[in-house]
Amino acid sequence: MRQIAIVSGKGGTGKTSLTGAFVRLAGRCVAVDADVDAANLALLLPGQDDEWRPFEAGRRAVIDPGRCSVCGACLDACRFGAIRTVELGVESDPIRCEGCGACAQVCGEEAVSFRPNRAGLWTTRATPWGTLVHATLGVAQDSSGKLVALLRREARRLAARDGVDLVLIDGPPGIGCPVHAAITGVDGVVVVTEPTEAGIHDLARVLTVIGHFGLPSGIVLNKADLNAPGAHVVETVASVHQVPLLGSIPFESRLPGLLGRQETGLEIDGVREAILACWRAVGEVLGDSTHLALEPVAAGADHRRSRAAGLS
Ligand code: SF4
Ligand code: SF4
Repeated sequence: MRQIAIVSGKGGTGKTSLTGAFVRLAGRCVAVDADVDAANLALLLPGQDDEWRPFEAGRRAVIDPGRCSVCGACLDACRFGAIRTVELGVESDPIRCEGCGACAQVCGEEAVSFRPNRAGLWTTRATPWGTLVHATLGVAQDSSGKLVALLRREARRLAARDGVDLVLIDGPPGIGCPVHAAITGVDGVVVVTEPTEAGIHDLARVLTVIGHFGLPSGIVLNKADLNAPGAHVVETVASVHQVPLLGSIPFESRLPGLLGRQETGLEIDGVREAILACWRAVGEVLGDSTHLALEPVAAGADHRRSRAAGLS
């Protein structure tokens, strides 16, 4: 089983729409939406979600008003300002509570107990190209790395169960903990960037992180024709980091409209060929081409167009 992560240093580079196209070209894979703070790969992969399951991380204090003597000791002990006075005593704010346990330690009435913190929800979806594993992180929750790890575990389990050779991971933008969780142990990383000042800056940062992990990687330059000097700088950054440029995709103003109809750039002449070239390069540079077989098993127009392009 091979695992390929698609990441970007910054948001808005077209990472998710490229992942949606790669899923179609892979034909049969398990896809993971690891951008749990702003998950939207499901918008591109039609299908029926299974039951949503809770994701629990950490704990939250609960104060029993029947035991509480309203002495106020826990208000002083809580460094997070999570305990507040209410009409009949005190209560813990689950958004502010960090589950540290200081309140329980100072409470002489044993009025504080803890419940698991429901940090999000996750599910699986059957799509025409295989299973999608995706999730939504709760408001003000900071366990995105753990949730990404859970989604990846589930994806590997499903791939092994179903005899699927490929896991494609739509990673989060940036260089933080969730990105680490998304790329740890993968076989290759595709970095999607754009020829803008912010895109180039964040490309260099994410390449440094990937280099730290010692992972094979390659760059896809999206919206390549928007800024020729910027595209040249991207090539220079790739060269400095000794990371191959897998391909370039032209800017296409019609793409947002297609995404709204659960379609991808594979629907657009010129863009389709560029994405196909990138996918071939992924197979050659990052993967084992026997695993990344270019035989789309897509339903609908994408499949027909891929066949027309001579790939199957
Ligand atoms: S567990 Fe910690 S953060 Fe939560 S209410 Fe108690 S003292 Fe405050
Ligand atoms: S320390 Fe215990 S008894 Fe005192 S206010 Fe807090 S919960 Fe109530």
